[in-house]
Amino acid sequence: MDKKQPIYLLIFITFLSITSCTMQGQAYKPNVSRDVRIGRQVRDEVVRKAPILDRQQYASAYQQLEKITNTILQSPHIRFRTEFEWKVYIVHDDNTLNAFVTPGGYIFVYTGLIRYLDTEDQLAGVLGHEIAHAERRHSIKNLNKRIGTSIALTILLGSNNTANLANTLLGLTFSRSSEREADKYSVMYLADTPYRCNALSDFFDRMAKENNQKKAAWLSTHPASEDRVVNINRQANKINCVKNGTRRSLNTLKNALPR
Ligand SMILES: [Zn+2]
Repeated sequence: MDKKQPIYLLIFITFLSITSCTMQGQAYKPNVSRDVRIGRQVRDEVVRKAPILDRQQYASAYQQLEKITNTILQSPHIRFRTEFEWKVYIVHDDNTLNAFVTPGGYIFVYTGLIRYLDTEDQLAGVLGHEIAHAERRHSIKNLNKRIGTSIALTILLGSNNTANLANTLLGLTFSRSSEREADKYSVMYLADTPYRCNALSDFFDRMAKENNQKKAAWLSTHPASEDRVVNINRQANKINCVKNGTRRSLNTLKNALPR
């Protein structure tokens, strides 16, 4: 087979995507099917390597987590409710305080994070933040900026480089503005739910006060900023959404996790 063929195909597809952007002009809508395709590849790679809790064996834990996630996804501020797959995975690692999302809405939550938090509202705050990263397409924009669309396209054309894509994508640090935006949207999504809209601030507040070694994982991809708590509360006051929330304990969910 002609080795140059994939390159021609790549150039052709790049050309197509450029022309379609130009032709659509102001009506340009992001091509989110690509987010889902890239997201699936990253998801597959993570699932292959990370200790993911079995969905059947820990059905109760998954159901509880999905209930919180689906409550947030009902917010009218969610743009890609039907376009993304929105699937949650629990990573069995009590020593890691982390959660992350791939493009296309594959959400990974560590048991360490669930055990660290006290209420459903707080977990909803973190989930809202992760959902916002996918919704606002931060990883995809980041990827395009850092390595250009060509590499992502090459991978989509069937190269076996998915591990590289996953590592690149998961290793990218979000900018401060992306973090601020994800915090802001967490407040907006939760304002449409029974949860306390600024519950994410509890998490940052506590992390800032504690000298916890486990916190490093989340902070490595989500740079901390002193004014985060202030900004979250400012957004909450701006849209006047602060209320008590559910204050529902996370103990039932914690008890459904492996001992
Ligand atoms: Zn973040």
